[in-house]
Amino acid sequence: MSSEDIPVAVLPLSRRAAEDLDAADPLRPLRARFTLPEGVVYLDGNSLGALPVDTPARVAEMVTREWGQGLIRSWNDAGWYDLPRGLGDRLAPLVGAAAGQVVVCDSTSVNLFKVLTAALRLRPQRPVIVSELGSFPTDLYLTEGVGAYQRRLLGRDGDTLEQLIGADTAVVLLSHVDYRTGRLQDMAAVTELAHRHGALMVWDLCHSAGALPVRLDDCGVDFAVGCTYKYLNGGPGSPAFLYAAARHQQDARQPLTGWFGHAAPFAFEPDYRPAEGVGRFLTGTPPLLSFAGLEAALDVWDDVDLDALRAKSLSLSTLFLELTAPLGLEPVTPAAPEQRGSQVSLRHPQAYRVMRALIDRGVIGDYRAPDVLRFGFTPLYLSHAEVWQAAETLREVLDSGSWRDPRFAAPTGAVT
Ligand SMILES: *Cc1c(COP(=O)(O)O)cnc(C)c1O
Repeated sequence: MSSEDIPVAVLPLSRRAAEDLDAADPLRPLRARFTLPEGVVYLDGNSLGALPVDTPARVAEMVTREWGQGLIRSWNDAGWYDLPRGLGDRLAPLVGAAAGQVVVCDSTSVNLFKVLTAALRLRPQRPVIVSELGSFPTDLYLTEGVGAYQRRLLGRDGDTLEQLIGADTAVVLLSHVDYRTGRLQDMAAVTELAHRHGALMVWDLCHSAGALPVRLDDCGVDFAVGCTYKYLNGGPGSPAFLYAAARHQQDARQPLTGWFGHAAPFAFEPDYRPAEGVGRFLTGTPPLLSFAGLEAALDVWDDVDLDALRAKSLSLSTLFLELTAPLGLEPVTPAAPEQRGSQVSLRHPQAYRVMRALIDRGVIGDYRAPDVLRFGFTPLYLSHAEVWQAAETLREVLDSGSWRDPRFAAPTGAVT
């Protein structure tokens, strides 16, 4: 069926029914912890999380008091020096890690380079990295950047991980939740498969940290990375995190041997000696203003029950799948809740234009090439009524054909 033929549809559930679900939502009070513009339904928290109410004051405090008044003294007095490790420990429960295994630093891309290289050095006789063709591009590019390793990609060199992982495999790198399809991997089973063959497991948690409970320690994961500006709401460009299991820390050698990862940074020794523990994964001076934003964002998480978060996330995405089913768009996201992250992706041949038309009506999701409409459901600040509104707006855009308006046409060249 071409998009032209989509019949006029009616949503299978009323706005009222969605509001009833909100009345029973235990996470509802958390909405007041975020600032969102009037008239916007924000379904892109999986790309850039919303602004926590307390963030501007925390950032201003760091600028005016800690920097303006404290000056250089704030490295100690305001605890700046401890922030990469301190925020790592605060973030750790969100990814199922005991203290001392997470640091906050750099970007996800840079941290991937560090953990991939460290993992490869722990398996020096093995020439293969296994990853996935559909991975987020930076992950794929970094599996090239770490050196002359043979890459085997799920979806290109084989259809199952069982075919790809073997005695020659040093590292398996996968996304816990696929950024395009929203598919959730079985972390325990895949990690176990890698270990059975003697390989190390690296997980990219960009689309699962803050979206659902993650159990790194329980699953025996070796290394993980993730960003904090998506579901964790740390702010644009906020620093990423890195997990290194305690059992690897003593032997792990990461390649970016800067002074922040040195055993005694202020001894100014000529030779590098790695710090004890996960601190050896640090590199240089942290971008502290971004850390202030993340601090305020983590305050919100102190009050969040992750099982309740998961329940609400699935309630929102299930509602959206049900509401949009009559619209005739093919879901890319698995129907089974246990295989779903916190997003729903729907295919439409003119997805770019449809998303532009939706954004024009205040429903902000995003587009992923070539034909995917992507809707992220952030349980902290999204209501079922807003999900209903988004589905109703999508119905209007498709029924009216308003997406055909030339102003929604894809620009030639790059689309974002
Ligand atoms: C968002 C995202 C990244 C981002 O990496 P940066 O270094 O922050 O640009 C990496 N991997 C995945 C899977 C992502 O979704």
